[in-house]
Amino acid sequence: MLTMEEAQAAVMATVRALPAEPVPLLEALGCVLAEPVTAPIQLPPFDNSAMDGYAVVAEDTRGAAPASPSRLEVLEDVPAGTTPERQVRPGTATRIMTGAPIPAGADAVVIVEHTRPGTPGTVEIFVPASPGDNIRPAGEDIPAGEEALSPGQVLGPGELGLVSALGLTHVTAIRRPRVAIVTTGSELVEPGQALRPGAIYNSNRVAIATSVLRSGWEVAHCLHVADDESALEQALRECAEVDLLITTGGVSVGEYDFVKPVLDRIGDVKFWRVLMKPGKPVAFGTVFGRPLFGLPGNPVSALVTFEMLVAPALRKISGRRDCLPLAVQATLLSDVRHKPGRREYRQSVTRFSDGCLVVEPSRKRGSAMMTSTVGANSLLVIPEASTGLGAGERVTVILLGRGGDEL
Ligand code: AMP
Ligand code: MG
Repeated sequence: MLTMEEAQAAVMATVRALPAEPVPLLEALGCVLAEPVTAPIQLPPFDNSAMDGYAVVAEDTRGAAPASPSRLEVLEDVPAGTTPERQVRPGTATRIMTGAPIPAGADAVVIVEHTRPGTPGTVEIFVPASPGDNIRPAGEDIPAGEEALSPGQVLGPGELGLVSALGLTHVTAIRRPRVAIVTTGSELVEPGQALRPGAIYNSNRVAIATSVLRSGWEVAHCLHVADDESALEQALRECAEVDLLITTGGVSVGEYDFVKPVLDRIGDVKFWRVLMKPGKPVAFGTVFGRPLFGLPGNPVSALVTFEMLVAPALRKISGRRDCLPLAVQATLLSDVRHKPGRREYRQSVTRFSDGCLVVEPSRKRGSAMMTSTVGANSLLVIPEASTGLGAGERVTVILLGRGGDEL
């Protein structure tokens, strides 16, 4: 049986990032840039006004005060999106709006609050301006030809806005991995159908699919099969073109557990048990050259093994550099008991209290207790040798979805 570290290392050594391709900006949120973005134009493209006001020759406003304003002739109005026609010479000013190009001859913009109308066709300036005031010089954000974004950059709203400001429509990035989910179990019925005796509803389909979606990855297929070896093999073949396959259930050593035998036959098993609680039976290997995770059927185990093993794999496939779950320190709010043996990952709620992180573990435990997941945003780590943790102790918690940094 592998430790979590060994299992994660085996996963990381096996999976690879997808090749890069052009991605439209609206589809690139959370994607990893594969090639640099070089600025085709400078930003801003021209000297422009940072404020609504008057473009002036700063020297004209020297010593201006409410009692002795500078009186200037107004040449024209330049709203954003238009270009000035007249040159500003000493004794004149141009009314200008935010974002409009600075007229030739002007070297400062006086904000409208420092002006008042004078006689018709003139303006009075009663606060002195210095050269450069309220002017955004061309290229101050980025000069043309400079690297705006480097490979490896995770694309968020700011980065994607910058690419748009440069006039580009696509980036060369790693697309979202496509995932197939195959739930297994003859006892399972889809929600919305009648429950027959002995049956339960399939909850892993939705819980695992939304785990994938939450991080911005794609669910390409969701299939369900009974506990039947050839049905499972058939389902896997239908999903052969995806970037990663997930099965749930049927991965222990029971009579009806077909995931490992199928993987042994048509793929390659790297491991199938990990020293963890919940989730000890969890298989990893490859089939059709794609990574496959056989998650346990118990719903809480499936979620925890997804977070600890599948999500890191999907991050690496997405080209991320930080792939492993994000662990932070927090203060435990209540006692937890633990039987020494396997490291436990307990559903918990982590939050700030007086500026410090505190963690409240779920009172419910057990790999089939779905209510333990309600509101949980983290997993409390209970060390393997521990006999329990006490309120007030500093503990390690793993933030689900790396604290939400995936999108
Ligand atoms: P297994 O791993 O197939 O032995 O299943 C372990 C437990 O998880 C059993 O109680 C199953 O009924 C339950 N289980 C398996 N798959 C699902 C699922 N998709 N949704 C809800 N419970 C499941
Ligand atoms: Mg089963």
